Amino acid sequence: MPAFDTYTCNECGTAFKAMAGANAAESGYCSPVCERAGKER
Ligand SMILES: [Zn+2]
Repeated sequence: MPAFDTYTCNECGTAFKAMAGANAAESGYCSPVCERAGKER
């Protein structure tokens, strides 16, 4: 069973599931859109 963890998006606050060690888990954003928005701040 893959190790999915629940994270909270740094940008929009949405809880999302990602695999531990995945890009989304490390960056803390639920989607590329949020990641871009978060990095622009
Ligand atoms: Zn988000």
